[in-house]
Amino acid sequence: MKEKGFSKHRKQGETAEQHEERMRLEETLEDIKHKLIVISGKGGVGKSTVAVNLATGLARKGHTVGILDVDIHGPNIAKMLGLEGERTKPAQSNRVFPVSASDNLKVISIAFFLEKDSDAVIWRGPLKMKIIKQFLSDVEWGKLDYLVVDSPPGTGDEPLSVGQLIPNLDGAVIVTTPQEVAILDARKCVTFARQLGIPVTGIIENMSGLICPHCGREINVFKKGGAEKAARELDLPFLGSIPLEPLLVTSSDEGRPFIEAHEDTESARSINAIIEKIEKAIAEKEPRRQE
Ligand code: ADP
Repeated sequence: MKEKGFSKHRKQGETAEQHEERMRLEETLEDIKHKLIVISGKGGVGKSTVAVNLATGLARKGHTVGILDVDIHGPNIAKMLGLEGERTKPAQSNRVFPVSASDNLKVISIAFFLEKDSDAVIWRGPLKMKIIKQFLSDVEWGKLDYLVVDSPPGTGDEPLSVGQLIPNLDGAVIVTTPQEVAILDARKCVTFARQLGIPVTGIIENMSGLICPHCGREINVFKKGGAEKAARELDLPFLGSIPLEPLLVTSSDEGRPFIEAHEDTESARSINAIIEKIEKAIAEKEPRRQE
């Protein structure tokens, strides 16, 4: 299928090198059926946690999945998948293979290129754009059913680069916590996606209520229902909520995706229901992609 937004011809002012780079990017993207970006207005709302569990859940359903961590300054995906200290292996033509988290889940993150896990990357926009481009075009992703992109919080250089480099993103999944300050930032994500022409797949409310382990009653630490209300107001799909779940913290610290480590919990069922909604939303878009 021809990628939307691409032209094989050399553009005016484009050098031979730039043209070749663009062609490599297009070839990579042609082999990836669905591309999703996970975004949030704020840090710490569980965006990376959602990205890891979404990618793992899709892979467990038999899809071939790639997870691209474009959080250049605070890459967490490798740790959350137990891949700390891993390195990419060289492939042909100066390319690299992504790191495998399982048979059908591959990962790329700046974390695999740092000398030490504690190293800090101090780069400005253009350099970040360059590395994100390389993460797409110089990585042997192979054929993928889904690429899940985890971007840093906010609407800065990284999600902007992704939006520009992948002109046919299938959707943005927005993660927020229920309280008003977080919702306000989530609305900015919607504006951002709309300005870039990225369809919003829907909004997820994370850290939505906590079941007290002592009395079994629900405590609404960050309030509840704010994301669903915002989704209604913005006329966007609400994908579901994930409770505040202590096991989510321990499993991600231990490098084991929660929905794999604790599949029999209510929280894992909530996440799986969200994954099903996302799959369905993407599948419903399919006929339009073929036009
Ligand atoms: P972000 O990517 O938005 O900065 P993270 O996914 O890194 O956020 O999550 C921040 C912290 O919150 C992590 O320690 C993670 O384990 C924890 N966390 C995420 N979602 C939940 C949840 N539903 N319940 C409890 N802890 C969570």
